[in-house]
Amino acid sequence: MGSIKIPIETSARHIHISREDFEKLFGERKELTFVKELSQPGQYLAKERITIAGPRGTFENVAILGPFRKETQVELSLTDTRKIGVPGVIRQSGDIADTPGCRLIAGENELEIDRGVIVAKRHIHMTPGDAVKMRLKDNEEVFVITQSFDRALIYANVVVRISWDYQLSMHVDTDEANAFAGDDNPHGVVLKLFGGDAYDLGKWADELLEGINRTI
Ligand SMILES: [Zn+2]
Repeated sequence: MGSIKIPIETSARHIHISREDFEKLFGERKELTFVKELSQPGQYLAKERITIAGPRGTFENVAILGPFRKETQVELSLTDTRKIGVPGVIRQSGDIADTPGCRLIAGENELEIDRGVIVAKRHIHMTPGDAVKMRLKDNEEVFVITQSFDRALIYANVVVRISWDYQLSMHVDTDEANAFAGDDNPHGVVLKLFGGDAYDLGKWADELLEGINRTI
């Protein structure tokens, strides 16, 4: 069986917001205004924009992605976190315990959130059908290799996320996208190392740096 090509999409900085926080910024009983659908079913870009502020800087005009979430979550690249002066904490979406906060500003209104700023861990959305074809499990971490001009790249620690609500696509942030150079239609394939078994990639990196060379 040939490798399945996975489209790679770049997530620019954005925010998922709770209804409560949205109303604090935009007014009571206000709703998100739909602009367009995103690749994952049910997710959409909203018209409203927010300014994100940290101790060292701000980003204006940050996109809000709907629908409302239970908790507000700001997704930045590592470069972004340095620019506004908040620690860069890499997390899966939804896992925001012990993450830094920031200020959210919309017009005259301002709100301080005490957590929710993450650098999203790179991941692949797929359906259970895709997962069977690729023999992958939910939350498994894989390698993805991509080709772009003369800068082929292997991403490690790519988390597999499986749901019938998903459509096959790998999400990277702007730093990661810049690493493989622009391509109109980037794709990657899952690379099976260690006989396709899951392996702690951080440990593998440590081993190689220590001169231990495991057969892959
Ligand atoms: Zn995603």
